[in-house]
Amino acid sequence: MDASAAVTRTHCPYCALQCGMELRSETGSNSGGAVPLRADGWDAFPVNKGALCQKGATATELLNPAARLTTPLLRRSRDAELETATWDEALDFAASRICDLAAAHGRDAVGIFGGGGLTHEKAYSLGKFARVVLQTPHIDYNGRFCMSAAAAASQRAFGVDRGLPFPLADVAHTDVILLVGSNLADTMPPALRYFTAQRENGGRLIVVDPRRTRTAEQADLHLQPVPGTDAALAAGLLHVLIAEHLVDEEFIAARTSGFEEVRAEVLRWWPERVEAVCGVPAPDVRAAARMFAGADNEGGAGNGAGAKNGAGAKNGAGARNGAGVHNGAGITASTGMVLTARGTEQQADGADAVNAWINLALAAGKAGRPYCGYGAITGQGNGQGGREHGQKADQLPGYRKITDPAARDHVAKVWGVPADSLPGPGRPAVELLAACGSDIKALLVAGSNPVVSAPDASFVSARLAALDFLAVCDVVLSETAALADVVFPVTQWAEESGTMTNLEGRVLLRRQAIAPPDGVRSDLDVLGGLAERLGRPGFLTSPPEVFAELARASAGGVADYSGLSYERLDASSEGAGLHWPCPAPEHPGTPRMFLEAFGTPDGRARFVAVGHEPAVEEPSADFPYRLTTGRVLAQYQSGAQTRRVRSLNSAEPGAFVQLHPDLAAAVGVSEGDAVRVTSRRGSAVAPARINDLIRPDTVFMPFHWAGAGRANSVTRRTTDPVSGMPAFKTAAVRVEVER
Ligand code: SF4
Repeated sequence: MDASAAVTRTHCPYCALQCGMELRSETGSNSGGAVPLRADGWDAFPVNKGALCQKGATATELLNPAARLTTPLLRRSRDAELETATWDEALDFAASRICDLAAAHGRDAVGIFGGGGLTHEKAYSLGKFARVVLQTPHIDYNGRFCMSAAAAASQRAFGVDRGLPFPLADVAHTDVILLVGSNLADTMPPALRYFTAQRENGGRLIVVDPRRTRTAEQADLHLQPVPGTDAALAAGLLHVLIAEHLVDEEFIAARTSGFEEVRAEVLRWWPERVEAVCGVPAPDVRAAARMFAGADNEGGAGNGAGAKNGAGAKNGAGARNGAGVHNGAGITASTGMVLTARGTEQQADGADAVNAWINLALAAGKAGRPYCGYGAITGQGNGQGGREHGQKADQLPGYRKITDPAARDHVAKVWGVPADSLPGPGRPAVELLAACGSDIKALLVAGSNPVVSAPDASFVSARLAALDFLAVCDVVLSETAALADVVFPVTQWAEESGTMTNLEGRVLLRRQAIAPPDGVRSDLDVLGGLAERLGRPGFLTSPPEVFAELARASAGGVADYSGLSYERLDASSEGAGLHWPCPAPEHPGTPRMFLEAFGTPDGRARFVAVGHEPAVEEPSADFPYRLTTGRVLAQYQSGAQTRRVRSLNSAEPGAFVQLHPDLAAAVGVSEGDAVRVTSRRGSAVAPARINDLIRPDTVFMPFHWAGAGRANSVTRRTTDPVSGMPAFKTAAVRVEVER
């Protein structure tokens, strides 16, 4: 905090846009935790340029100590209630239970479950704590639910996973965007300015989403596929490119490998077959392919224009053209991007679906050159950085593989332990949670609320309740913390300094603006206190020192932060951050990747031949519809934070079930009726919102709430075999009025 001006430039506590904000003390003071702060947009920060959404603008309510945990809580026996305790009591109790359970059942009986909102310092320290102090392989995090499928697909195709390999601002300068499974208008509204600018610059936007969201409303062409069929839809678009000689053969030959296998695979996905599987009219499949190739000014424009799509929405395909110039040899000079998010990633074949979209970008030559490329739109605030530095079951800092002997040697040296003492890979999140109460006896949760956010949440709640010991670090008494034996009240966001990596791979310093409330400590202090009691004193707890060690541990890795420091991030263009990789103090960072070569050993992007796997849980007579889930504008993730902000809660106070008028008529539901949505796992009940913005065979529920409206009571634990991503988006359900 700049005491004279009482302004701190920092970043939002929520999503991966990490909007820059200025926190002003309304009293001119900066201590005591109860000081009211006001959040304003930070005009000079180059990502949001002063804009904040409703969540960011009201985030200072999170700092109100009245809404916070400020004292450790302890359950002295399994049947007892949580009661207040001193920090020493809580840390002693937790260390003793972990020690006893590891002695009785082995080190592998202890696990850690982290979060994608944690700073690098916390995520890195959790990984180090697991491998060095607990010596358990079992650490994973809720980022597994966020974009692990896109991460796996990017690694297969490009050898590197960095959400967007270019600055978000580049979006405004590309000719055509294919946006798949993202509702940016609700999830990160300030990002929408770049998409609006792109269209004002003459570009076109294609949106793929089963719902006609506020984002889809802005599209030149909206495709509404059956949830879970994205890989087939992407194959259909590529089929059209090949059939109409719109692939960029020169780019494919010069910059890629593996196209012939993909060509053979997509031969069977002609548009009429795609229509039968995906529910997207064949003319729209053709129109989308031509528009993406920049060739719809050569006879493709208007194909499907004005046609009614699967949900009765007019799509306007082909309304504009001229975004690119087809040179007659199958090569277009137009630029384009494919951007994916959770809609396409949270499927049983999520990684394959993303690779199918990447194949399309590569075949069109829209990668590896300016204003072209594939990017994944990260969800959580540090979803990107959280997986780069050791919080993921199979990774060590620097995006290194834990199975790689050279990586183990390097990181073990930094940690001052023998390489052979480091455990191997652990279990991905869904498996880790499922093992609680059986193989896993003790679990430490930090920055996550899986009782609300995990798939098949009733099952997960039962597994957590079956643990011999559960400890939770959180800011509030979340639904998961309420099950714990020990709850540590920890610092958050503006009460501490820490670093984050936003959706563009931009590493940021999130500055402390205010002192934490009395009684609250950092997660780093919790780990330090436990490490000391478990025989490993000296665990780093100062954020700048932790970051300096992280930078050394990442040196030479894919996500190389070794040229970064707090001082450098603080000074970088007044806090605009630096993009990784940044391998030396004098290195300028890497805003744009892949312009010269991709991150694979031969520098070529890899096509990945993928098929379309059925959704595994196809609708049946008992469960004839599909449930898809997502977020709303005024809430965030499990709602542990936003449900405690008054204005957000009044804007969106509870769950709802969105359904099409045809479906509502078929099941006898009227607007506002309590609707029960039931799958093979369980059911959720919420009021009906009836409109024609969704496919008639699909219902939608937001997933931010606990209790009767908990959407994840219905969702599936089935995971994508490549990435471990749960298939949140494709549960077969029945829908009925709650009597
Ligand atoms: Fe915060 Fe995301 Fe809203 Fe920006 S878009 S203010 S980062 S929640």
